[in-house]
Amino acid sequence: AKTGGRNGIRFFDPEMQASVSARTALESELRRAIREKQFVLHYQPQVDAGGRLTGAEALLRWQHPTRGLVFPDNFISVAEETGMIVGLGRWVLETACEQLAAWAKRPETAHLSLAVNVSAGQFRQTDFVNRVLETVRQSGADPLRLKLELTESMLLDDIEDTITKMQAMKHHGLSFSLDDFGTGYSSLAYLKSLPLSQLKIDRSFVTDVHTDPNAAAIAKTIVFLAQSLGLTVIAEGVETEVQRRFLDENGCRDYQGYLFSRPLPLDEFERFTVKREE
Ligand code: C2E
Ligand code: CA
Ligand code: CA
Ligand code: CA
Repeated sequence: AKTGGRNGIRFFDPEMQASVSARTALESELRRAIREKQFVLHYQPQVDAGGRLTGAEALLRWQHPTRGLVFPDNFISVAEETGMIVGLGRWVLETACEQLAAWAKRPETAHLSLAVNVSAGQFRQTDFVNRVLETVRQSGADPLRLKLELTESMLLDDIEDTITKMQAMKHHGLSFSLDDFGTGYSSLAYLKSLPLSQLKIDRSFVTDVHTDPNAAAIAKTIVFLAQSLGLTVIAEGVETEVQRRFLDENGCRDYQGYLFSRPLPLDEFERFTVKREE
């Protein structure tokens, strides 16, 4: 193969070529997947300090016709860069709301809340608020049980637009959790101006809570901050009893992670709810 032209420029890089066409293939497969609704939501249980199930986070999975179940880290960024996240996000929200409405009809699941991830490109749509409210209304879901997970970076991007949108949705009963908290801009001044109800401690701090004093200090500080601001706090990625105990001793009351359960397909999640109630 040619390794370079006269001035060292490589005109043909097989590796780069391969990655470009892989990306193009992924884009068109994703476009088709959205059209054909090749997606499914998995539900990861959220529990309180007493181990009681309080709700779930909806997590997107792509049921690829040949590659099997594909996880979001392999396609969400492409969906965001191409704008496909808007259509995909609508499907997620509709499916989540329909599920909430179905759970409300059964005594074992009527108390559950559902958290849904929202991307920046989705949130910035001018009709985002109306879409959300209309989706909730049409599904018959109780807005008090729907929680949107937002990230610091997306909220700070246009703080006025953010506050207007959040307040309009809050007015209709929705609540907001600040996802991956501690990994973003860490500008604390904005926190008090946002109508949040929960901070979600990022998994990176939870993982190292008993091995890294800095992670422990950050986790404690987030709990303290939440308490000071009158917000609830949930820890994500809790895998061990040691982590859970540390968080519990420092005032955290809500948890999510493999210690309790992995994200589950709907039927397994529903079996899990029944099992917990017995
Ligand atoms: P996230 O919002 O931080 O979601 C938590 C991720 O951590 C999930 O990965 C979950 O399976 C994983 N996880 C939960 N508990 C544990 C644990 O104890 N240990 C470990 N090692 N991991 C744990 P997943 O499902 O692969 O999702 C990855 C990311 O994809 C999510 O991160 C979220 O940013 C994004 N995502 C997922 N679903 C959606 C969606 O519907 N819309 C948008 N916009 N983004 C989504
Ligand atoms: Ca999340
Ligand atoms: Ca998270
Ligand atoms: Ca995270």
